Amino acid sequence: MKAKLTRGQQWVYELLNSTSTEITAQDLYAQLQAQGRSLGLATVYRAIKALQLQGLVQARVLTNGEWVYRLASEDCHYLTCLNCGRSVPVEECPAHGLQQKLEEKQHFRVFYHTLEFFGLCSTCGETSDAGAV
Ligand SMILES: [Zn+2]
Ligand SMILES: [Zn+2]
Repeated sequence: MKAKLTRGQQWVYELLNSTSTEITAQDLYAQLQAQGRSLGLATVYRAIKALQLQGLVQARVLTNGEWVYRLASEDCHYLTCLNCGRSVPVEECPAHGLQQKLEEKQHFRVFYHTLEFFGLCSTCGETSDAGAV
């Protein structure tokens, strides 16, 4: 059962719903502005947090320390390059059955999970001086 969303939460949800990629709070804020939907940045952050607690939005931190958001209904995992920071989506998810099992065994409402692999992408892995300054 979904709680009623505030106007700001609704706007953030709609924008995430129409965006196929992950997006930072700053970009969310800027795109809402561009749509004439003026929300303060602090309000955007609060809306994201509220949506997370309702299991609607999930978050992931990038190698540069920035957080990006997407709808929790989109289960997507990544191979992330530690050198260039590029994230490549992974098709399969081995955690799906586990999530259901945990919900039943631990009596925990699991909204989403994260799974991420780190290393060097093919471009960065080719050069032996990857990461050299
Ligand atoms: Zn790379
Ligand atoms: Zn998954």
